[in-house]
Amino acid sequence: MLTDQKQRERAIEKIRKEILALTKSPLYKYRTKNKYIPVVGEGSLFAKIVFIGEAPGRKEAESGRPFQGASGKLLNELLSSAGIKREDIYITNIVNDRPPENRDPTPAEKKLYSPFLDRQIRIIQPKVIATLGRHSMEYIMTYFGLEKNLEPISSAHGKSFKTKTSYGEVDIVALYHPAVAIYNRNQKDTLIKDFKVINKLTKEYGNC
Ligand code: URA
Repeated sequence: MLTDQKQRERAIEKIRKEILALTKSPLYKYRTKNKYIPVVGEGSLFAKIVFIGEAPGRKEAESGRPFQGASGKLLNELLSSAGIKREDIYITNIVNDRPPENRDPTPAEKKLYSPFLDRQIRIIQPKVIATLGRHSMEYIMTYFGLEKNLEPISSAHGKSFKTKTSYGEVDIVALYHPAVAIYNRNQKDTLIKDFKVINKLTKEYGNC
């Protein structure tokens, strides 16, 4: 376990460098042609909660930071509705480079990039992992041996699942991706309600 901030920063920086040099990625050429920046995670390296999205969009790839565009604005609103400060959590994605036209990441892309996500989780060792959207939910539930509990996001959202990891128990919370709520008030209300699950867990684990 990496116990100090500097060790964790170095481990994340190593991941960033490896992704930068990932010439075998089908997204590498698209990244370099557009002068995009790979998006690794952002936030507290001692966060109790890690949020995991899908892949960067244009704003994220231009800035190298997760959840900066319309989905990011909504995520910020949802976090404050749940009383969570963005700087206290850690936010990342399954895929670190932007897929063209914001298409879904392919299974091959998820397979190629997900080890970087696994390493971020092992560095931070969160108590709660909140998945944003179907791709993230499917990946994380499978990674933690909960595939038997998988159901469509339309019924899984707002539910939490306890699982054991090499570093202790983790609660996995399935949430809709904020993008679904950009133009849909009902979905936004659902997300606000579901974020209360995170709020409850936050209280259980103390500070984020
Ligand atoms: N959507 C995602 O899944 N991740 C981001 O970083 C931005 C939008």
